[in-house]
Amino acid sequence: MSAFNEERVLSVHHWTERLFSFTTTRDTSLRFSNGHFTMIGLRGANGKPLLRAYSIVSPNYEETLEFLSIKVQDGPLTSKLQHIQVGDTVIVGKKPTGTLLIDYLLPGKRLYLLSTGTGMAPFLSIIRDPDTYEKFEQVILVHGTREVKELAYHEYLTNELPKHEFLGVMVSKQFLYYPTVTREPYKHQGRVTTVIENGQLAADLGLPPLNAVEDRVMICGSPEMLRDLKAMMEVRGLKEGNTTTPGDFVIERAFVSQ
Ligand SMILES: Cc1cc2nc3c(=O)[nH]c(=O)nc-3n(C[C@H](O)[C@H](O)[C@H](O)COP(=O)(O)OP(=O)(O)OC[C@H]3O[C@@H](n4cnc5c(N)ncnc54)[C@H](O)[C@@H]3O)c2cc1C
Repeated sequence: MSAFNEERVLSVHHWTERLFSFTTTRDTSLRFSNGHFTMIGLRGANGKPLLRAYSIVSPNYEETLEFLSIKVQDGPLTSKLQHIQVGDTVIVGKKPTGTLLIDYLLPGKRLYLLSTGTGMAPFLSIIRDPDTYEKFEQVILVHGTREVKELAYHEYLTNELPKHEFLGVMVSKQFLYYPTVTREPYKHQGRVTTVIENGQLAADLGLPPLNAVEDRVMICGSPEMLRDLKAMMEVRGLKEGNTTTPGDFVIERAFVSQ
């Protein structure tokens, strides 16, 4: 039996010249937890699949799948994937996995979701999971990009999600969205690490400084961002969790550097 399903592209949205998202059909047999990633890709001219890890943006109760993707100009997969059109076929792995699951965190008061770039992808499913709001009083999504136009889903997070038919009430009361950019003027400026360290994030949101007693954290971004934030969490006394032992924070790479 094949390890992959062949799914049909239903829509494509280009956010910038470096970023796009798309939706596909979903095989009814595909099961995953919110926060998981899976292998997706295209079949090459030789018929062999070319695959990369992708976080699943859509929550696990949706009938379709959504992915957010970088466009690497000479990237083996994304140099081609960025040209997909409605009706094209994308291969989706049948075994989603990953560490960014609320089950791998100990109970806490607040859940911080710290991301840069496409690292926000897994958090888009987690913030649409009712269990997230059952488990945590407050859910704070921090998304860092270089430019304002790279703040994908900004409009959705600001205006649509709080009005969501089923989640709207929870989202309005419990969800906080903190977009921050590094290379142009914006209402929130600075790297994710900086706004935590200098207290700006806590001050802007009216929250106490991030601490091991009340806060649980998920981190997804570049290898450097993960390294810096992991060190910052450990200094604050938070312990890393994994798929076998829950902890105060969990991390996942948004991509691998070459
Ligand atoms: C656990 C995991 C989850 C991932 N989830 C996503 C996701 O949801 N969306 C996504 O676009 N990518 C994601 N990636 C990265 C993805 O697997 C591929 O690297 C990416 O699609 C580029 O593929 P490529 O073949 O074109 O280039 P590759 O040869 O894979 O990458 C070339 C180079 O491009 C840079 N790069 C790759 N991906 C990114 C990125 N996302 N942001 C910034 N720079 C990047 C890196 O420097 C990399 O070395 C994930 C990676 C891992 C390990």
